[in-house]
Amino acid sequence: MKKILIVGAGFSGAVVANTLAKTGNYFIEVMDERNHIGGNCHTERDPETNVMVHKYGPHIFHTSNQKVWDYINSFGTFRPFVNRVKSVYMGKVYSMPINLHTINQFFGKALSPKEAREWIESKGDSSIEDPKTFEDQAKKFVGEELYKAFFYGYTKKQWGTEPKNLPASILKRLPVRFSYDDNYYNDIYQGIPEAGYSSVIEKLFDHPNIKIHLGKRFFGEADSVSGFDHIFYTGPIDAYFSFRHGRLGYRTVFFKEHRTEGDFQGNPVINYADESTPYTRVHEHKHFTPWESHAKTIYFEEYSKETEAEDIPYYPKRLDGDMKMLQAYEAEVSRLSNVTFLGRLATYRYLDMHHIIEEALDCAEKFISEHIGK
Ligand code: UDP
Repeated sequence: MKKILIVGAGFSGAVVANTLAKTGNYFIEVMDERNHIGGNCHTERDPETNVMVHKYGPHIFHTSNQKVWDYINSFGTFRPFVNRVKSVYMGKVYSMPINLHTINQFFGKALSPKEAREWIESKGDSSIEDPKTFEDQAKKFVGEELYKAFFYGYTKKQWGTEPKNLPASILKRLPVRFSYDDNYYNDIYQGIPEAGYSSVIEKLFDHPNIKIHLGKRFFGEADSVSGFDHIFYTGPIDAYFSFRHGRLGYRTVFFKEHRTEGDFQGNPVINYADESTPYTRVHEHKHFTPWESHAKTIYFEEYSKETEAEDIPYYPKRLDGDMKMLQAYEAEVSRLSNVTFLGRLATYRYLDMHHIIEEALDCAEKFISEHIGK
């Protein structure tokens, strides 16, 4: 039986572990420096309120990939959930992402879909042909006023830099709609696991050939682990190489927790667009499980900052300097034959859960087909 080490007990590691274990040909050890599984998707019940808390911020599962949806639903019941976000700007509440309601609220109008499209087109900067930056993407497609109100301040707080330094791809994650559809996502399937994400991940790891070591840090190429035929590494790519080519830029987030009676904000997520509000958003966790009822509530103010040595990296910044550094690390990765780099941190990409699952499934299936019988 081949021996496999998986570094990281998040979705990437769990999907690979499950896929390999099911063949009966591998014995898998999983190592994670934290004392829980699930990585940043980890959920747990708050002892005081009994609310299921997304410990590392809101996670709403969405995908249009039938295979991924069917796969993940075999590890837990997903309840239908549509993410409807609000944004507070200058003391008023607006609908987010930008839709017909936002446009009519913001400009004090009652435009039809056709009128709104023409109105926004007249605001957009048509001289920008192929927007490469976040700022140009916003100016071209929503115009200066909506950009300044809803994206400029939020993005500066979130990313710690001017939006003109960020790629257009970050803004392309959000739809702009000329209807009253205020679903944050465009995907066909959307849901939240009834028993929390950690329960789904626990089921993925539930196999006699999988052994998990929590609270155990892996030190990359400097680590002395031995006896494994292959390693799947899901930690930060730069950490694997002891930051030899420098530290890649990441934003991290941290939370201020509050508890109170009843309902604090009446919605799962409210964004704060003003630069002067120090946090980016507030999440109130009981609204992620509308099928449960709770007398008390717990909510987090979310703050963003640069990632320092002991912080958990969240968002790869991918600025020009980072991308050059990444190339140096990727050249090192290409020389390693018995280590696979997988997931958001090991590939330094802004991936969602459904991307992670899809890639991990493909990666594990490819690995099995290449190694079986060898
Ligand atoms: N964004 C913004 N205002 C908002 C929501 C999002 O400026 O009200 C920008 C911000 O730069 C953010 C990006 O759009 O990083 C992508 O938003 P998304 O909701 O996908 O971010 P995530 O949920 O991954 O933090």
